[in-house]
Amino acid sequence: MGEQVAQTILKLGGSVITVKEKASTPNTQAIRRLSKEISRCCCRPMIIVHGGGSFGHFVASKYKIKEGYKSPEQLLGFSKTRQNMVALNKLMVDALIMNRIPAASVQSSACFFTEEGRVSYVSLKPITGFLELKLVPVLYGDAVLDTKLGFTILSGDQIASNLAIALNSERIILGVDVDGLYTSDPKLDHEAELIGKISLRELRRMLAKIGGARTTDVTGGMLGKMVEMIPAIEKGIKVDIVNAKKPGRVYKALNNMNVLGTKLEL
Ligand code: ADP
Repeated sequence: MGEQVAQTILKLGGSVITVKEKASTPNTQAIRRLSKEISRCCCRPMIIVHGGGSFGHFVASKYKIKEGYKSPEQLLGFSKTRQNMVALNKLMVDALIMNRIPAASVQSSACFFTEEGRVSYVSLKPITGFLELKLVPVLYGDAVLDTKLGFTILSGDQIASNLAIALNSERIILGVDVDGLYTSDPKLDHEAELIGKISLRELRRMLAKIGGARTTDVTGGMLGKMVEMIPAIEKGIKVDIVNAKKPGRVYKALNNMNVLGTKLEL
């Protein structure tokens, strides 16, 4: 069988598919609607990556998983973080299957290994094998093994960017809970303006001015997201940011239709 690459990597933010302020609370309505929108698109092969939101951040912060192994008390936290992510992933994959998408869960922590928080090794076989069969791999931000830290948190954003580069994907669609990249955090600044399109050079220039996410978020807000996307943009991969909380936006982005959001390009 010939190697299949993923044309599109769809990353669904944890703040979209969970209720971010309430521990381990899914946004079931959003999960169902997004699964329906994905089922109506014709852009396969694709990979879906989702964040942790309130399934990941609360427990990971409590046990300081991102900072690495420091004491045995963290071990239960490591287990709980992974188990929570598996639970959220099951909800996502169940909803995709309900909509007749041949989704197949891929345990991120079995494929990705990091060194001081950065991906140092990835086993692509489980992912490319699924793609070859025309399955839709579904990965997620996870607690992973780290060669220097023992363990850490690997964000869905880093996974998406890394996979897009490794598989030479055409584009990454980032589904978030705001309309796109703004001149400043739209949740804090009413005068923030949506940026329709931005080049890599302009993005680098504005990064210093961008604030972080509002609620506790071990993987950072839009700033962290943009930093992760830069290596992919450098490789010519297009990145579209759309509001996945608004019905139809992900559907339009997937189908290359005109949609409100931000386009990041080389
Ligand atoms: P997710 O969990 O969905 O992956 P995050 O919550 O980590 O996403 O990041 C998205 C958040 O980043 C937005 O909800 C927004 O409040 C915040 N943010 C900070 N600065 C900006 C900006 N300049 N433009 C857009 N969003 C921003």
